[in-house]
Amino acid sequence: MSEPELRASPITPTVDFSAEGIQHGFLRLPYSRDDSAWGSVMIPVTVVKNGEGPTALLTGGNHGDEYEGPIALFDLARTLKVEDVSGRIIIIPAMNYPAFVAGTRTSPIDKGNMNRSFPGRPDGTVTPKIADYFQRTLLPLADIVLDFHSGGKTLDFLPFCAAHILPDKAQEERAFELVKAFSAPYSMKMLEIDTVGMYDTAAEEMGKVFVTTELGGGGTATARSAGIAKRGVANVLRGAGILAGKAEVPSTQWLDMPDGDCFSFAEEGGLIEPLVDLGETVVKNQAVARIYPLGRTGTQPSEVLAKMDGMLCARHFPGLVKAGDCVAVLAITV
Ligand code: CA
Repeated sequence: MSEPELRASPITPTVDFSAEGIQHGFLRLPYSRDDSAWGSVMIPVTVVKNGEGPTALLTGGNHGDEYEGPIALFDLARTLKVEDVSGRIIIIPAMNYPAFVAGTRTSPIDKGNMNRSFPGRPDGTVTPKIADYFQRTLLPLADIVLDFHSGGKTLDFLPFCAAHILPDKAQEERAFELVKAFSAPYSMKMLEIDTVGMYDTAAEEMGKVFVTTELGGGGTATARSAGIAKRGVANVLRGAGILAGKAEVPSTQWLDMPDGDCFSFAEEGGLIEPLVDLGETVVKNQAVARIYPLGRTGTQPSEVLAKMDGMLCARHFPGLVKAGDCVAVLAITV
């Protein structure tokens, strides 16, 4: 049985992806609403093309409250010189643009989580329409894909660049070459909690060389984390042979997330007392946090235990925690 053919995307780019030179424009997505009957979502995009060569697709703001990616990509878009490029660079600093403008993880329009929306739908709401445009128009143009993430308002991470273990070992090796090129303070063999609907998975299933990051969190950026992002994207482009210039490559600590024991979740809500900070090591069954019930004094806090020996590479960020929240993520040094 053949699949019914999908309709065309409603998104119109104001840039020509095949034109030489630098163009700054928009992906215009019609969005009819109370305050603008024939209105649009205008997603900023920059395309730089200079002759033949590979295409890099660079994205931030997949989650709207993660800032290192957008900072590095707005900066790159304004500073790139066409003569330094061999091939093509497509820059979209804020992939889920409505979420980015609202400062929220998901879209205020349809609550869409971009990284759970792939392959998207051309006849869906705003978030799946954007995902569909990446799935059917932008990803097919790309050879390498760098998607910036950070922890957002509810997580904080050690700064790392990451790729996934893949069935195609040649594809996996090329991805880890770019992780190495990025040269974040940490480099991760990353395990996902749930890969369904992820941009990562969509790109990897298309055979693209895909790398991602987690560079901090808490719904903000620091001078250090923004600097890591800016240096990292230039290094990746140089590593792929798309950008001229010499990479600045400081040393990195490799980390691995071997299995689901990496993750510790809260089984009840309350006031969280961290017992370990990012970058510190723990042993199996060591308490990584206490959770105090909010309602009365004199009660014992519960403890969240490490399920393995490892280094704390991510933690819950807000001072209060809810049942089910991810409290801690551990990785092993390799
Ligand atoms: Ca994220």
